[in-house]
Amino acid sequence: MNDEFRQVLENIKEICYNVENAKAKYRSSSDDVRIMAVTKTVPPEKVNVAVAQGITLLGENRVQEFLSKKDAYDKAAEVQFIGRLQTNKVKYIINDVSLIQSVDSFKLAKEIDRLAAKNGRVMNVLIEINIGDEASKSGISTGELDELICQTAELENVAVKGLMAIPPIGCGEDVFERMNMLFQELKEKNIKGVSMDILSMGMSGDYEMAIKHGSNLVRIGTKMFGARNYLEG
Ligand SMILES: *Cc1c(COP(=O)(O)O)cnc(C)c1O
Repeated sequence: MNDEFRQVLENIKEICYNVENAKAKYRSSSDDVRIMAVTKTVPPEKVNVAVAQGITLLGENRVQEFLSKKDAYDKAAEVQFIGRLQTNKVKYIINDVSLIQSVDSFKLAKEIDRLAAKNGRVMNVLIEINIGDEASKSGISTGELDELICQTAELENVAVKGLMAIPPIGCGEDVFERMNMLFQELKEKNIKGVSMDILSMGMSGDYEMAIKHGSNLVRIGTKMFGARNYLEG
């Protein structure tokens, strides 16, 4: 194994240690926090080092990049889509991902439902929230959340499993807690067809903070694989 791959193993060790520490400090012992490896720009051979180390959950941002890499991934990998998803591209990923985290419009939810039905399956989704109200970010505003969840819950071939957010870089802890409150409130509402199981929040720079505020799925790219060396699309 080369130095670059060995570094991934070191990084995973450190991330797991930090996740365990954050859980011990802030959460109850029965809480589970999943670590997702975010693979954008990372070659599949390097991603597979993480999978072999037990990080079997992969997060994909770009349809084209995913399609070019998926056959090379370790078969133990479970793939979820986490990037902005154009309605006309759902068809390319519908049979290759277990969950789509980035649903932020009813138009997109309806297309996922249509293609899931066509393929005889139910697709799990998260609703993505623009918790920082940033103009440049994807996700719906909190004001639109209830309506989108209720509409999406009616779709037969889509199952709402929780919420996803990208808190603004450097934002206050209150933003993370606001997400947690939204998640807990929705869970208590017990909306038919909705199971609030997953709160996907936290990346390389803020995953411990996210765990403190209820996240149970952290999405790690840079801290696991190193700095990305080309511009993000
Ligand atoms: C790139 C990306 C991540 C990981 O970001 P890092 O800061 O590199 O850990 C997480 N979530 C989404 C949606 C991303 O696009």
